[in-house]
Amino acid sequence: MEIKKIGVLGAGTMGNGIAQVSALSGHDVVMRDIEDGFLENGMKAVEKSLTKGVEKGKLTEEQKQDALSRISTTLNVEDLKDVDLVVEAVIEDADLKKRVFKELDELVRDDVIFATNTSSISITDLASATKRPDKFIGMHFMNPVPIMKLVEIIRGMETSDETTRAVFELSEKMGKIPVEVNDYPGFVANRVLMPMINEAIFCVQEGVGTVESIDSVMKLGMNHPLGPLQVADLIGLDVCLHIMNVLHEGFGDPKYRPCPLLKKMVRAGNLGRKTGKGFYEY
Ligand code: NAD
Repeated sequence: MEIKKIGVLGAGTMGNGIAQVSALSGHDVVMRDIEDGFLENGMKAVEKSLTKGVEKGKLTEEQKQDALSRISTTLNVEDLKDVDLVVEAVIEDADLKKRVFKELDELVRDDVIFATNTSSISITDLASATKRPDKFIGMHFMNPVPIMKLVEIIRGMETSDETTRAVFELSEKMGKIPVEVNDYPGFVANRVLMPMINEAIFCVQEGVGTVESIDSVMKLGMNHPLGPLQVADLIGLDVCLHIMNVLHEGFGDPKYRPCPLLKKMVRAGNLGRKTGKGFYEY
């Protein structure tokens, strides 16, 4: 089946980026959210990002206009009934995601592929809410979607080769580089990244170095463009804590225990860039 029309659930940070790269690669897109304001903000973000692309000479004005004309927005899930593939990017809540997929399962054709952009929830678990676990897959885009090359493709226990192939081809058509991994807590991206961030926070807690010196060591010594504490502030400390808890619970291994300082900062509401204060002040 050729994928021509893509349904995107959620117009937030990830959803609008996914809608943009889908439209730019020649797909028609229906983006759904639950309030007009969220859809408007999502479309504003797409327009701003495309305009930047034109200013930088990466896109032509025609490409921008074509992409914008391909995206329609809706509050009504029924408007997704004729899509060929769905990418879900609603908030990170397993019950909500299952509810949303269950509803779509009844609505769309049997051959439609369901992809989720979850950062940490089991693909196999989400797939179990549908009657199509073979057509269910993780498509983990990185933030900011229009810029980051990787799509971590996560196979659930029942995901078919055909579904994996189709999603690989789609990711490449979007100009991304798909990398296949299996469904284990944190997949690969967050299983490797988050313990590194957590360890950097232990270093702050134990006074091994200052925030600046820890980030400098990792930037200058490992060639990381940002230090781990800068990355933590960018992602949001609440999100980091949530993912550490997923790893800790999922493996039952104490090596994944979240650092007490991370828990304390989340309790204090110092979540990073989004609250103006984390390891750094903004
Ligand atoms: P966000 O809060 O910016 O956006 C989520 C959107 O989903 C909101 O606009 C919300 O109104 C909408 N929504 C809620 N219920 C809905 C429903 N029933 N139908 C349609 N829309 C609904 O969140 P985000 O940062 O874009 O994250 C979305 C997903 O992507 C999460 O699963 C997250 O873990 C994952 N993710 C996030 C990042 C990141 O850096 N932000 C990176 C990779 C993956």
